[in-house]
Amino acid sequence: MTDLSAFTSLRVGGPAKEIVNASNEAEIIAAVKAADEAGKPILILGGGTNVLVSDAGFDGVVIHISSAHVEAEVDACSGATLTIGAGQPWDEFVAITIARGYAGLETLSGIPGTVGAAPIQNIGAYGHEVSEFITRVRTYDRAERRIKTFANEECEFSYRSSRFKNELGRYVILDVGFQLRRGEVSRPIIYAELAEALGVNLGEKASIFATREATLRLRAGKGMLLDGGDHDSWSAGSFFKNPILTPEQAAELPQNAPRWLQEDGLIKVSAAWLMENAGLHKGHERDGARISTKHVLALTNMGGASAADIAALAKEARDKVLEVFGVKLVAEVNLIGLTLD
Ligand SMILES: Cc1cc2nc3c(=O)[nH]c(=O)nc-3n(C[C@H](O)[C@H](O)[C@H](O)COP(=O)(O)OP(=O)(O)OC[C@H]3O[C@@H](n4cnc5c(N)ncnc54)[C@H](O)[C@@H]3O)c2cc1C
Repeated sequence: MTDLSAFTSLRVGGPAKEIVNASNEAEIIAAVKAADEAGKPILILGGGTNVLVSDAGFDGVVIHISSAHVEAEVDACSGATLTIGAGQPWDEFVAITIARGYAGLETLSGIPGTVGAAPIQNIGAYGHEVSEFITRVRTYDRAERRIKTFANEECEFSYRSSRFKNELGRYVILDVGFQLRRGEVSRPIIYAELAEALGVNLGEKASIFATREATLRLRAGKGMLLDGGDHDSWSAGSFFKNPILTPEQAAELPQNAPRWLQEDGLIKVSAAWLMENAGLHKGHERDGARISTKHVLALTNMGGASAADIAALAKEARDKVLEVFGVKLVAEVNLIGLTLD
């Protein structure tokens, strides 16, 4: 049996009973139907960059999606309408759009994983989220056993969430539709660090080429680009979400805790600030699991860590923040076969 550590960016995870590689839509649907009819549990895996799989592995069928295709229709007025297979590596897709002069995805450069997983947690970085560019998501609905397509407004996108995350496992994403502008000017740069790197004022625009390059450089400096030689990137990205609090809860935090008012009146606070100010610092390690030396929210495998070691470090961080600030951090990473409780 193959260990799932070979399929995950944290490089932990025990054996899977069965692994099926599905390289096109017919293979994905056939594999899902066969497992469902046999009553076997299913784990869909793309790049394995947002999962923590237990050391016991997965007692069912892992369907590894590698169906990569890019279809584009370009129109001088409306821009580029693209349909991308779920298994297409996300950053290769972004690179293609930038090279063809389609604007929009530049600040999402360098995020690991596949296009099919991108809508699930509504990936985002440097002030923009993928939901701004998705027109529709085509799925196989395991509950109704049929193909179902959702328009953007039906996807229930929110910060690191969507209907696909809310009912994780029900919808197998087959392909994703995007609408991008034609042109070489970026979206407004609304993230201070990126604006500084580009030498523009907040809210100004830059070239999509320069924005991609600056984004990749910033990400590399934080260990947020996959790099086999950099143990700080042996992670699943940010382990915790930024907590969303009521104004009353946020008022309990020290005044210098960074906070952002949301459209619904709730307040997003920085999980990284909470961790650092609870005494959890970059480079803190236990049993081969380590907080990245470059980015406090990334929990990493120094080389010999097990899934239990990563989970123990996550629990330590969550419990410390709860003790110091009364805020319970929630994992952004999908926990497979283990919990933090
Ligand atoms: C170094 C690093 C940096 C990162 N930076 C960011 C960042 O800046 N912003 C951000 O938002 N995320 C970031 N992430 C997290 C991760 O890259 C994204 O969540 C990505 O979308 C995961 O894609 P994947 O294909 O690897 O998904 P996987 O890890 O394979 O799967 C994630 C979840 O989605 C499900 N799934 C996967 N594919 C499908 C499908 N086709 N249909 C149905 N379910 C599916 C899986 O079952 C699982 O529950 C980072 C991760 C790493 C390792």
